[in-house]
Amino acid sequence: MKDILALDVGGTHIRSAWVTDSGMRDDERVHADLRGLTTAAGAGAQEALLAALVQHIELRLEEGNAHAVALGMPGFIDRHGVIAASPNLPGISDFPLKRLLGERLTLPVTVANDALCAARGAWLLEDPRPPSLAMLTLGTGVGGGLVLDGRPVIGDGGTAMEIGHIPMVPKGHPCGCGKRGCLEQYASATALTRIDAEAGGPGRDARELAEAANSGEARAREIYQDAGRYLGLGVATLVQLVDVRTVRIGGGLTRSWNLLEPGLRSSLDENLIPPLRGKIDVAPVAPERIDQIALLGAADLACLDLI
Ligand SMILES: [Zn+2]
Repeated sequence: MKDILALDVGGTHIRSAWVTDSGMRDDERVHADLRGLTTAAGAGAQEALLAALVQHIELRLEEGNAHAVALGMPGFIDRHGVIAASPNLPGISDFPLKRLLGERLTLPVTVANDALCAARGAWLLEDPRPPSLAMLTLGTGVGGGLVLDGRPVIGDGGTAMEIGHIPMVPKGHPCGCGKRGCLEQYASATALTRIDAEAGGPGRDARELAEAANSGEARAREIYQDAGRYLGLGVATLVQLVDVRTVRIGGGLTRSWNLLEPGLRSSLDENLIPPLRGKIDVAPVAPERIDQIALLGAADLACLDLI
């Protein structure tokens, strides 16, 4: 039995697991989850990230033989595993992570966008498996990944499905990507905190806002509803471009799905062409799968030999 060591890497965390690459049901392939820390932000971020990853991976490789290491990372990542930029990881720029890790580990390494990994993993676990699936991940930013007709969509330069950076508001709020008015400035956890402060609130985090909204506070409910409406508009745009009928929502904000859903559904319906209305299956990723999908997807992408 061969195993891939898969990692899900963010600005402050590393999660890793062994993923069996064949011969098992997809929902039984991820095992031995481990969490660690990164401190990849600001000056020296690239060196710190590389050191944290090497340390974590070498520790895990003491447990057994891997035939490949597969990473899911936030950011704009090309087919050669170079991270051009990562809007929510300051200090990462044109960083050839795949090459550098490969040299240190002497193992095949793949590096892919984390939302693409999540989309692939979610698609593998759907039963029945749909032809296509789009994933939106709502956390510090808004990530996106797409499996179309069974194939992961990577794009000419590796940055397909950057739905978090589609322009929503002309000359809107500045985004970490360098533009203004991107979707993630209106529908990420970070955005909700800013919008609360702009509305005269204390700048509560997404969880505090959700508690207030669920207790009946009108402003907190409105902040979530508006975020849902922006997401609905983003999903409608995507659906009309590629005719994907299965859309899954992941990331921390899905804990507040009850608050996002009404705005998302009404906006999606308003912004779809009539033949598509009511035909889009939008739902949050099942809680028991949230921890698996990015790791499973990263390992699967490594097997596909596309990245
Ligand atoms: Zn942006």
